[in-house]
Amino acid sequence: MGKIKSLPPEIIAKIAAGEVVERPASVVKELVENALDAGSRSVKVEVQGGGRKFIRVIDDGEGMTPEEALLSLQRYTTSKIDTLEDLFAIQTFGFRGEALSSVAAVSRLKIITRKDGQVSGVEIKMEGGTLLGSEETGCPPGTSVEVRDLFFNVPARLKFLKTVGTELSQIGEVMAKIALANPQTQFELFHEGKLLAHYPVRDDPASRIVEALGKEVAGKMYFFESRNGGVKVSGYAADPGLNRPNGRGLHLFVNRRPVRDRLLSHAVMESYRNLIPKDRYPVALLFVELPPSEVDVNVHPSKWEVKFSDSESVHRSVIRSVRGMLEKTPWLKEPPGQRGNELRESFDLYPHGEGKTSFPVSWPQAFRVESGTAAREPSSTFSFLGQIQQTYLTFSSPEGLLLVDQHAAHERILLEKLLTRFSQGALPKQPLLLPEVMDLPAEEAKIVEDHLADLARMGFEMEPSGRRTFWVKSTPEILADREPMKTLKEMIKEISSWGRDADLQRSFDPLLKMMACRGAIQAYRPMGREEAQSLLADLQNCTYPSHCPHGRPTLIKITLTELEKMFGRR
Ligand code: ADP
Ligand code: MG
Repeated sequence: MGKIKSLPPEIIAKIAAGEVVERPASVVKELVENALDAGSRSVKVEVQGGGRKFIRVIDDGEGMTPEEALLSLQRYTTSKIDTLEDLFAIQTFGFRGEALSSVAAVSRLKIITRKDGQVSGVEIKMEGGTLLGSEETGCPPGTSVEVRDLFFNVPARLKFLKTVGTELSQIGEVMAKIALANPQTQFELFHEGKLLAHYPVRDDPASRIVEALGKEVAGKMYFFESRNGGVKVSGYAADPGLNRPNGRGLHLFVNRRPVRDRLLSHAVMESYRNLIPKDRYPVALLFVELPPSEVDVNVHPSKWEVKFSDSESVHRSVIRSVRGMLEKTPWLKEPPGQRGNELRESFDLYPHGEGKTSFPVSWPQAFRVESGTAAREPSSTFSFLGQIQQTYLTFSSPEGLLLVDQHAAHERILLEKLLTRFSQGALPKQPLLLPEVMDLPAEEAKIVEDHLADLARMGFEMEPSGRRTFWVKSTPEILADREPMKTLKEMIKEISSWGRDADLQRSFDPLLKMMACRGAIQAYRPMGREEAQSLLADLQNCTYPSHCPHGRPTLIKITLTELEKMFGRR
């Protein structure tokens, strides 16, 4: 016999199962998606021991006949596609016909199901992929799938499972994602008999956000929607002030299927660029809908990944849509207390009505942002009260109190000005009467050689003189008397870190931010009324006035209602 032989079926089954079933949450996902594909209105999930001991999913969907149920447990049996072409027109969550057989291969499984219109149902038991028996039984219409002792026969997998708490939170997360995309179905999640999550049927997908992500987060999310050819992009993205240390706040869906997709998360991150701190992630729900022929969902058995046929246009559409909302900075207008968040009165940064947006009162319409950004008059409604610690500016208005961080605010203003000027060509520069000499280590000299044009665009005109020496002939206007040479050195360091295939447009960002920061009014600097009012007016004219380029808030509002609460008047 040669060295190559066919694997026994049990091993094939376990290898295949390993791709679909990674942990208890994968079982929950597959079973709940089956329930949805069966047209269920209500899905109940019960787990014990973080899902390792016991998972049961009960649905009120169309059910299966005894023959169908037996077939469903075999590998590659599905009712969802017939032909190869169907693979490119998938409307269901499932289509590979591997989930039930995979789960059955690595657990003790019991299915009880009754088809619509049949008088009795069937109960089928399996253990480690072997059929133990099937018998007629009385049961309600629908299907119940019970999975005990997951991985009892795959000790290697068992070892990789985390604590009960971690596995349970993964299950909770998967359920939340599915619930967010399917508001017309009720979901319940029980652990050890305790109700952990309940998602009642909702007409309005937005109400699901409160249940899935909590009141506090929901209160800070804003609607966006756009259509570009066959691609529809919609969702809710959060106030940049709400950001996370990891990407778990990003909920991405393609044709209602939850996905993990680098392209989509990149597009969302890109939309928040210069609005949240480096290394932080925004919170957002993103629904991309497009014809099934334009997206391949058959990338991996777990179906978490997709491939777009025109990924560039999807990427662009997402950025345009999310940015469109962010540019209206709706969080600067407090949402009316409609969806369970604290009742707050609106506090308008643009009180004369020519402001960025005006919100009607109902939700989610309340968060639909209407017109574009119009040029605004400085508002006289905000009158300057004074400075705190020569750092924070205070303003009063009939609606309350406004605090502004003078450095953060000025940084934001400068960055936006710099970005505009830079996109038009080069930044304004100031010639040096006496050029400065700059000696650099060999490596940095090489960098400067290679980027003379880029540096000139930033305002630093340099002329080589010898191998490691340069004449600096001009500096950026914005850095006059701000130690420009120090900034130049930092810039050269930053440029040395640019990768070969760095996205140039993006690479200049840190340089411009650096300049905005160096050029901005510092903290601990006295400021008078006139200057303060004009700083506020400039801030109001920014596209993103609420946060500095590093993601810190530029302004904080305390409404009258909040003041009244603090003083116990309410
Ligand atoms: P897939 O979902 O990819 O078709 P599965 O292994 O998950 O593969 O399920 C196999 C088949 O069993 C499905 O195509 C469907 O016909 C049937 N099925 C599974 N779960 C249910 C359910 N909860 N209700 C009704 N039919 C089901
Ligand atoms: Mg399935």
